[in-house]
Amino acid sequence: MPKLIWLNGNLVPPEQATVSVFDHGLLYGDGVFEGIRVYNHRVFKLATHLNRLYESAKSIRLNIPITLQDLTEATHATVKANGVQNGYIRLCVTRGAGTLGLNPFACPTPNIFIIVDAITLYPAELYDKGLAVITSSVVRNHPAALSPRVKSLNYLNNILAKIEAIDAGVLEAVMLNPQGYIAECTGDNIFIVKDGVLYSPPLHAGVLEGITMTTVLRLATEAGIEIRRPDLTKHDLYIADEMFLTGTAAEVIPVTKVDNRTVGEGEVGPMTQLLINAFKNLVSNNAPED
Ligand code: PMP
Repeated sequence: MPKLIWLNGNLVPPEQATVSVFDHGLLYGDGVFEGIRVYNHRVFKLATHLNRLYESAKSIRLNIPITLQDLTEATHATVKANGVQNGYIRLCVTRGAGTLGLNPFACPTPNIFIIVDAITLYPAELYDKGLAVITSSVVRNHPAALSPRVKSLNYLNNILAKIEAIDAGVLEAVMLNPQGYIAECTGDNIFIVKDGVLYSPPLHAGVLEGITMTTVLRLATEAGIEIRRPDLTKHDLYIADEMFLTGTAAEVIPVTKVDNRTVGEGEVGPMTQLLINAFKNLVSNNAPED
């Protein structure tokens, strides 16, 4: 349990960190958020996360009422106040309290809160053995309806796919876009390896521009790995040599089964292992803050 939560400018104990039942974040999922890692007291890629937060907010006409610099300082202050060396930050901006009814302009003041806590998305042994996933029948949001590039507080689309995964006895689901191409998982981006080339769906497939994904792409480039980003189909997943997922909470996790087909040899593949090691190396000492 965190010691102190940052809420609208104050560090308060968790039991005092409350928002109104009239908050449109709660009533309609109207708001934006970021999930950010703390590695060795350093806030990993904070500037990139906050940039994405302000972009998500701009896209949904939500004015974040404090400056980027103040939010940066608030994030650091919350990490410090909780004495966290390694952990996870959840930074949310809700539309704020208003009247019943959708009109966001009836909500004068957004609520901003920052929680610093621990997170475990998948059991530790799966980082050695690999995860089993399914492809979901739940189609990822059409970018013209709600762009997956907006990291909004409304995750129902992903949650429905997650339920399907759990019902099928696995922990994660791959979601297709309305055209039937691979988009992303419920909370992670997806990569495959085929014949020594690294593949990930393009942004136009309707995916969140993952910060872990971007980091892994850069590490792959530095390692001289060829990268391609064409539209991918389920068949590409079924014949892949290797597969892995990336996300702030998940980091880099191998996938060894998809829709009951074994991926490659059913073990963590060499390129996946190389990128896991490169990512661990990047975050273990002086994790970059931008
Ligand atoms: N896709 C979705 C739908 C996500 O929710 C997330 C992480 N929250 C990601 C991808 C991965 O993004 P990032 O690496 O920035 O955490």
